[in-house]
Amino acid sequence: MLSKYIFLAGTKLRNPSLISWYYYLKYAEKWPIEKSVEYQIEKCRDLLHFANENSPFWRKYFEEHNFLVSQFNSLEDLKKLPPISKSDLLKFNFEIHSNFNFNKRFFSETSGTTGEVLKFWKDEEWDSFNRASIMRGYSWHGVKPWDRNGYFWGYNFKQTEIWKTRLLDLLQNRFRLFSYEKKPILKFVKKLQKAKYLHGYSSMIYEVAKICNQLGLKINSLKMVKGTSEKIYDPYQSEIHKAFGITAINEYGAAETGIIGFECPFGKIHVNMQGVIIEEENNEIIVTNLVSKSFPVIRYKLGDYIELSPVIKCNCGLHTPIIKTIIGRIGKTVYGINNLYPSLTFYYIFKNLALNHSINLNYQAIQHTKGDIIFNIEQHLSITDKEKLTQEINKYFKDDIRFEIQEGQHLHKMDGKQKDFISTI
Ligand SMILES: [Zn+2]
Repeated sequence: MLSKYIFLAGTKLRNPSLISWYYYLKYAEKWPIEKSVEYQIEKCRDLLHFANENSPFWRKYFEEHNFLVSQFNSLEDLKKLPPISKSDLLKFNFEIHSNFNFNKRFFSETSGTTGEVLKFWKDEEWDSFNRASIMRGYSWHGVKPWDRNGYFWGYNFKQTEIWKTRLLDLLQNRFRLFSYEKKPILKFVKKLQKAKYLHGYSSMIYEVAKICNQLGLKINSLKMVKGTSEKIYDPYQSEIHKAFGITAINEYGAAETGIIGFECPFGKIHVNMQGVIIEEENNEIIVTNLVSKSFPVIRYKLGDYIELSPVIKCNCGLHTPIIKTIIGRIGKTVYGINNLYPSLTFYYIFKNLALNHSINLNYQAIQHTKGDIIFNIEQHLSITDKEKLTQEINKYFKDDIRFEIQEGQHLHKMDGKQKDFISTI
């Protein structure tokens, strides 16, 4: 009970519009698709006008591309604007920010596991809307934001930061793992027995689930296991289910885009229709963040590969497009002996293996020199598994790479996100 009041008091101070946004989102989730699209057009028009008036970058960008904000009437019209990328957000960071006097702004810094760190300001409505979107997702699973929860994140902390983090965790009824040694893990698992949900990097959830299973520990209290920031691989799910009694759900988004999608109890990742417009071009996601007034993010190539499904009326009651697969980061290029390949190639190799031969593998591809690749595989392979994998690799790369398969590898470094492809070229 106390944790609920701490949450509500903190929210009132920090995010005054959060609760009203939450109720609005709960009301809007019952809309038919046509009404949601109408709402998107309306919000997008507002954002375009606002950006045109307040953001020096966008005013110039619209002008350069002969984009008339006053003539925006449909989602198709948005396509007249060429997409921007992360490098634009970094390069034109100052000019993108709006010259508008917001009542309240929050400083945001992305974790930047790859490349430069993106820093920007979020206005209060943006930050509150985003928190409300997460809260709505939780509501689908019977979870309240103040419920007791266990949390995984990068754990490279200094001692002073650990105390600061512990205090913040206490206020949010949260506990986390600071080290991956056996004793702290056992302590963490013991606390989990009384928690309602568990969240963080999915690769870390998987690692801890494996340890629980090895030790024969079972947790039955969790209503939701939520993976963020990383793809949840199929082989993770069986271990997670065995340890926690439920499979992990996806929360998909980024600091600059807000929550893009949230998975419902029927296993569908619903697009956050009131928060974003999403498009897909050659498997690449393009996002317009409808609440990003202080730092407008319009037609932004986030840098992820996804697969979109058509609009459905889901059993949960929502009527939205569905993100079928979050394939993952568009990583570095793969260098063959003669040709170049997208990192997406690895995804297809392992997807085919799972779909056509029911061989589910966790992998990491590593390239240090052009033309050579090491495939690290977590599982141990039978002779047929190895043959099928070799066939699939050859199907995509022909004779253009030399490769080595290393089985029974420990893939996770426990220092943050796990990467599918590491290139030092
Ligand atoms: Zn659903």
